[in-house]
Amino acid sequence: MPATALDPAVLAKYEPVIGLEVHVQLLTETKAFCGCANHFGSEPNTNICPVCLGLPGALPVLNEKAVEFAALAALALGCQIRERSIFARKNYFYPDLPKGYQISQYDKPIAEHGVLDVPTADGGLKRIGITRLHMEEDAGKSLHDGFPDSATRTYLDLNRCGTPLVEIVSEPDIRTPEEAFEYLTRLKEILLYTRVSDCNMEEGSLRCDANVSVRLKCAEKFGTKVEVKNVNSFRFVRAALEYEIERQIEVIEAGGRVTQESRLWNANEGRTYSMRSKEQAHDYRYFPEPDLPPLIVTEDFLQQRRVELPELPEARRARMTAEYELNPKDAATLTASREFADRFEAAARTARNPRRVANLLLSEIGGRLKALGLEQEQSPVSMAGIVLAADLLDEDKISSKQLKQLLDVCFEKGEDFAVVYEREKPRQITDSSALEAMIDEVIAANPKQVEQYRAGKKTVAGFFVGQVMRASKGQANPALLNELVAKKLDS
Ligand SMILES: [Zn+2]
Repeated sequence: MPATALDPAVLAKYEPVIGLEVHVQLLTETKAFCGCANHFGSEPNTNICPVCLGLPGALPVLNEKAVEFAALAALALGCQIRERSIFARKNYFYPDLPKGYQISQYDKPIAEHGVLDVPTADGGLKRIGITRLHMEEDAGKSLHDGFPDSATRTYLDLNRCGTPLVEIVSEPDIRTPEEAFEYLTRLKEILLYTRVSDCNMEEGSLRCDANVSVRLKCAEKFGTKVEVKNVNSFRFVRAALEYEIERQIEVIEAGGRVTQESRLWNANEGRTYSMRSKEQAHDYRYFPEPDLPPLIVTEDFLQQRRVELPELPEARRARMTAEYELNPKDAATLTASREFADRFEAAARTARNPRRVANLLLSEIGGRLKALGLEQEQSPVSMAGIVLAADLLDEDKISSKQLKQLLDVCFEKGEDFAVVYEREKPRQITDSSALEAMIDEVIAANPKQVEQYRAGKKTVAGFFVGQVMRASKGQANPALLNELVAKKLDS
């Protein structure tokens, strides 16, 4: 049952208030507090030990790499990092949590007071506050499907127990589902750029819970919030929020009250379902973890992380926009991933004209990929191939028409540019007298344009160059042709 369409006038009376909690698995080799492999997809219950199972007497030892990643993510999000943070036990019973508690952080998290700027519909930026970033461990997984007796049994895979996580909690600053979508998109991008997580939502490396309430626009107090749990794509987060906002407004408009609860998103039905009433923090009986000392982050340690911090997506987009004269859309394409931007820039810097490399990559290569429905990684033309093409164009060794023909062959045969160029070595007419004869013909056939040129409209030269290039089937040497056309017209 989709949300019934509310009268837009009724919807407009209300303001949604949204906060997001994002759990991110860190890309460490081993788990947070033991030496077990932190690896997705292993045989169930093979990456486990007394520590991550919480067997009596087993003691946790903090993985320094996890702290490095948490600090790096915190710095990238502009957080203040606490010199002394405290691990706490979050107690609850669940079959996939054999310890009966999760090691987390409570009132003294490693980082607080961050910010994330998200683009708005009017082309500006909106600043969303980040309340905190804390470290914790993951629980195991209950397997409800895929076994012959799944109808009557649930299996447990405890490999994920003790996987290091950071939880990133936003301020309730988000006002629309679209802003939530943008926040998540930017957050993921930053986490990928800092390489602290692979952010693979299908494998659960990035999970999102959304808190949402509605209030009358004039109201100061927040409404009762509902938590939508474990939504496994950003598009679904947006859809779940849209649904939930309308549902809450309907409840209020009908004279009812919104219940504080956790709800689950059902993507097939496009609606949320009540799961359980929401726990309060005191239900978890948080207390300081007695088996771990306070976490001390030194200035030296932080300085090291600052050195490791890469140029972040927003800054990189701004720099590359200026450096390669890009429009916003092209800048976004080139910086979509750090790996791609790195590969592009490493190649472009070896070219005679880096801007031409950007241009070819976005227009000629991008256009062909799009037409074929291919991803950048599936392009037959390597970055080195694009650099070669750009240099050949720059040196007038091929015309742009010949380039297009060569690229067509690359995509037809799945061959790189260097291979096709070496084999086909397009013919070029560099013989002045042959070109001059063609120019004379074109000039004779277009007296009106000649008149315009001689009256001072110098740009008409381009028309003659184009005509001769076409007559030569793209084989005229562009530099020589330009020179000869100008000479003829000026004589
Ligand atoms: Zn273990």
